[in-house]
Amino acid sequence: MGIGLYIHVPFCLKKCNYCDFISYHFNPALVKAYLTALDKEMALYSKSLPPKEKQLETIYIGGGTPTCLEANELYEVLKSCRYYFTWPPEIEVTIEANPGTVDFEKLTVLRRAGVNRLSLGVQIDSDNLLLVLGRQHTFEQAVEAEYLARQAGFGNINLDLIFGIPGQTMTSWRECLVKIVNLSPQHISVYNLQLEEKTPLWEKVKSGQLKTCPEETELAMYEQAIEFLKDNNYLQYEISNFARAGYQCRHNLRYWKNISYLGLGLSAHSYLPPYRFNNTENINTYFNCMTEGKLPVSQIELISKPVEMQETVFLGLRLRQGLDMTAFFDRFGCRIEDVFTAQLEKFLPLGLVEIVNSNLRLTKNGLPVANFVFREFV
Ligand code: SF4
Repeated sequence: MGIGLYIHVPFCLKKCNYCDFISYHFNPALVKAYLTALDKEMALYSKSLPPKEKQLETIYIGGGTPTCLEANELYEVLKSCRYYFTWPPEIEVTIEANPGTVDFEKLTVLRRAGVNRLSLGVQIDSDNLLLVLGRQHTFEQAVEAEYLARQAGFGNINLDLIFGIPGQTMTSWRECLVKIVNLSPQHISVYNLQLEEKTPLWEKVKSGQLKTCPEETELAMYEQAIEFLKDNNYLQYEISNFARAGYQCRHNLRYWKNISYLGLGLSAHSYLPPYRFNNTENINTYFNCMTEGKLPVSQIELISKPVEMQETVFLGLRLRQGLDMTAFFDRFGCRIEDVFTAQLEKFLPLGLVEIVNSNLRLTKNGLPVANFVFREFV
């Protein structure tokens, strides 16, 4: 089995009000230096990895805003992937894009470079709420980007949405879902806004300029999304992810199934069993490592079998079909019931998890308290 390759592009045109990811203001010279370093990192792995770990199954270019780069720069990144790794015909290649940073020409170049899945950060249909979030685009631009992507030949498009924004109502959220479904994307991701400390949005809430959505409204919005998307043939396959049949994101499924992936670039995380490791978060350290021909890894952990079992369970529980208990036995040589006896004795009678067709999964009541359940498995 091959690997999933994640490539991190830590540049954005402007920081969004809710974001606490590591990202730098777009700067052409810094981007150029970063892409040179990224190529060197690929070359290092190409020399050191065994052939089976150079066999790609998926690529995911995320950020930041990968599409703030020029089309030819992104083309070169993918060309390097083909050069240093083995690229099979059935590969899934996703790129994250922000509306306002793509046009028909860039999208066409991306398709030609082998990108076959586009994840578009729409977030919400209201320009006022987009302003609250500090996004650099309007809803009209998002609709235009989705249209251009289809014209450029993308047949697998994800639209990202956010709910629980200060000022958002149940009615406006429903209207947003209707507009999104009318665009008929293959995949929809729905995230509850997280108020991260020290972000401009957090400051505004703290100073009383904005009011957060009540928790019960957020829960009702989440449940509304689940019901509405189900009624429109979007299968919920993960806590935040919905897809038409056959369009689940293969790359992200690797994370939830706890199988191998390699992350390249600033702060990227990797899991090549039995090691989990991550790159430095300091861009100068990243550049220095690449100049010296050293991998930019800042932390590495040897994952023991008990830890791998815990991770496999709590990640697998994120999937709506849950964790295949037979596959668990085949992977670890022991039964879930024997390893996590106390947790199952607690959550099965509470109706927060259930066993269906040999799969252990969260119930409908377990979904909103998923984090509470996960904590008990680690
Ligand atoms: S585009 Fe994404 S990564 Fe960049 S600032 Fe906004 S939320 Fe953060």
